[in-house]
Amino acid sequence: MNKGNKDRPVLTAAMIKERALALGAGACGIGDIRHFVGDDIQHNPLSILPNATAVIGFGIPVPRGLYFAMRDKRQYFNYTSLGVKYTDESFAEIFLLKMGAMIEDAGYDACLQRSVPGFRVKGDKSTNPETARTYELEFASSVGDGKAVPDVIIDYNKAAVVCGLGEIGMHGRVINPKYGSFMRYVFIITDMPLECDEPFSGSLCDRCARCIDACPGRAIGEEGVDSWQCSVYYRGAHRSNPFMTDECLKDHPDREAILNGEMRFDKASAEAIYPYLDFLPKTHFGYLACLCAKACEIACYEHLKEVGKL
Ligand code: SF4
Ligand code: SF4
Repeated sequence: MNKGNKDRPVLTAAMIKERALALGAGACGIGDIRHFVGDDIQHNPLSILPNATAVIGFGIPVPRGLYFAMRDKRQYFNYTSLGVKYTDESFAEIFLLKMGAMIEDAGYDACLQRSVPGFRVKGDKSTNPETARTYELEFASSVGDGKAVPDVIIDYNKAAVVCGLGEIGMHGRVINPKYGSFMRYVFIITDMPLECDEPFSGSLCDRCARCIDACPGRAIGEEGVDSWQCSVYYRGAHRSNPFMTDECLKDHPDREAILNGEMRFDKASAEAIYPYLDFLPKTHFGYLACLCAKACEIACYEHLKEVGKL
């Protein structure tokens, strides 16, 4: 490929950021690929584009009103439909295709990275609480020694930090200085030479533990978020779920402990209880209503507002 041909448009980091904001991103940063050298090949952008120079990160804001409507028990489904499904399944694709075209028209490669909600790389035993099912690619194998097993999924949290977009909070989400954790992220791995930003070096998460206290399922601990525990309470297993009925889990011997958020779940016990937690329809692509109301992220947002960090 003819990289950087003089007949092609010259693109700068500033032009990319300006276009990203014009297309609806709330934040854009560019991370130097050198920050990923030596990282796990299953999550490394260099496994996708070996001659990459940079990862461009984009934060797409989710309107805070969607979160607050859940907090106040007024409306739930629009958060999932617009804040999760539409943002990740429609907006993100169109946005990435437009940004990618801009880069490729300038003569460089653009490997577009959107969220991968339905599966996990081989060996990743966690789940995605937002979706009905998550599959581990356990039967995939590498095509050669030292090569990654397909599919590679980049570490979104690390990429956001490297791109200077925010910090990882105790609740496991990226905290951005303007939007808190009310953003979703997409990336482009490219071989375009670009002026890069420094990794995020601010201090937002002060380990106040408000997110830990707010989670109805006690899914957050010092060691991070237990995705299986989260998945049960994201689906509304706690009594704070306004759609909970007297009939739900009526004959279950641990009903009280479950509704109080006192039960611990692993993969098997979580999957066994999912059929009972069927309060609202799924959206297209299997996204579930969020019936914990994202209490962890809302508590974090309110705390950071109170202390003047947002
Ligand atoms: S609520 Fe507190 S501990 Fe939790 S992520 Fe936010 S700042 Fe960090
Ligand atoms: S508040 Fe909800 S999203 Fe946050 S950790 Fe708990 S169950 Fe998961």
